[in-house]
Amino acid sequence: MNVQRNAGLGRRAVLGLLLALWVGACAATGSAGWQRPQGTVRLVVLHTNDIHGQVLTRKATWIDRQAPPQIGGLPRVAGYVNAVRRELAGSGTELLVLEGGDWYQGTPEGGLEQGLPFVEALAAIDFDALAIGNHEFDHSTANLQRLLAATGERAVCANLRDPASGERVPWIEPWRIVERGGLRIALVGLITPETPSISHPDTRALTFVDPALELATVKRELAGRCDVIVPVAHMGVEEALATAKAHPELPLFITGHSHTYLKEGKRDGAGLVVQTGAKASAVGRVELEIDGPSATVTSVRAALVDLLAEPAEQDRNAEVERRCAELVRRAEVDMKREVGELAAPLKAGRGPLSTLAGNWMADLVRERMGAEVGIHNRGGTRAEIDAGPVTVREVFEMLPFDNDVVLLEVLGADLEAVVRGAIEGTVHSGLDYSGLRVFVRSRKEEGATRLEFVRIEIGGAPLDPRKTYKVALNSFLAGGGDGFKELARSRKLAQDPILLRELAEAAFVRAGRIEPQLEARIVEESQP
Ligand SMILES: [Zn+2]
Repeated sequence: MNVQRNAGLGRRAVLGLLLALWVGACAATGSAGWQRPQGTVRLVVLHTNDIHGQVLTRKATWIDRQAPPQIGGLPRVAGYVNAVRRELAGSGTELLVLEGGDWYQGTPEGGLEQGLPFVEALAAIDFDALAIGNHEFDHSTANLQRLLAATGERAVCANLRDPASGERVPWIEPWRIVERGGLRIALVGLITPETPSISHPDTRALTFVDPALELATVKRELAGRCDVIVPVAHMGVEEALATAKAHPELPLFITGHSHTYLKEGKRDGAGLVVQTGAKASAVGRVELEIDGPSATVTSVRAALVDLLAEPAEQDRNAEVERRCAELVRRAEVDMKREVGELAAPLKAGRGPLSTLAGNWMADLVRERMGAEVGIHNRGGTRAEIDAGPVTVREVFEMLPFDNDVVLLEVLGADLEAVVRGAIEGTVHSGLDYSGLRVFVRSRKEEGATRLEFVRIEIGGAPLDPRKTYKVALNSFLAGGGDGFKELARSRKLAQDPILLRELAEAAFVRAGRIEPQLEARIVEESQP
């Protein structure tokens, strides 16, 4: 086989032998005439999660810093799945292929047409079931529905309900029941209830039911209709472990969202929780032995397979590769697309005083979130844009990081500490502001000019240290990036999944022509 495996595969712990796991309420209420198989059913479950639009390979610097190998990408995922299909063909061992959500957002290739052609490429791997991730909502619920159609109706989600009726939303199936080796396996979709606080405003019109509660409902509904339940859950490892504990008879949880590289899965006195990291670097491989008559899992062991080599010729998935090549070509063309025009260069200078690009970004995030104050860190602006026509690539290179926009409620005293730190500190490259002016004094110190914080005005009035302010900024800063711990501890009011570069691109498209004008928002006061 041309695909390398983790060294750990050979010495995997046989975790499941510790527990003879009863496989859920399906088994408890009888099988309504269904004849379960005699003997042992052997099942391999392959799983992925948080692919985030990864078409191309990338450098695995975590494996070798000096000479990183190229790892992953959708064609290699498809090739490994085919390799296992070939390996198991005629062996009597059954196969399931599952996906844990967050499919397309995060690369130029994945973002084309709001994810649709990428999801078509993903679907060509032929998953048995796919969870939807919080990022599937990034461009609205209507867009998600387009993407669902492209999966061939293989996507599942049980804990998404209409708040008015309490019924599940009609546009996605809660589960799929597939038959393997004479056992009926219910693949039940779940999504993290965290979604409305980190996603498109559309998600706030839906109820995300607690996954443990929803599973209790699902078990009642599926009683007598299946033999094994496997949740396919876009939920982080900790959340999944808690859910597993509430349903200790379920043998296996496919998860995602936390981007956790779980080499052999993880369990906490319940079923095995598995996850593969992110960006299509590895495929998870779980091997189960299930006693046919009782539908009891007698052995379950998990490993991750790093995708460090191209698939063997006979394992290549021609359709996935053709679609991916087309995505790369289209993304390259899209990079040359003009989004607008600049009347003067958008300078990103790192001097002590306000910068054009920083002010502009701070204005954009403030306006987007309807906030009193906007903040942008200059370290997030990686390139300047020249005067003249502006392309997608120029905007991308100015704002290459995958940070989206957050609205915080920040105490005045904390806001002052942040601004003071940005003016007087030295560990970072400074902040720019919108809706806020900071007054500074300069003094000479060992030949260098140093700035000293004096005071802040917000909307023309002095900052009140006891008042709270609505502050819009990017998710890097909101998470305490650049050492601003006061921001990390502030209350998050909302998060908008629009990336900074998407916000900037939209501003160009809206305005057509932008005439940047430098407004001094870091104002030097003359000495008294
Ligand atoms: Zn996620």
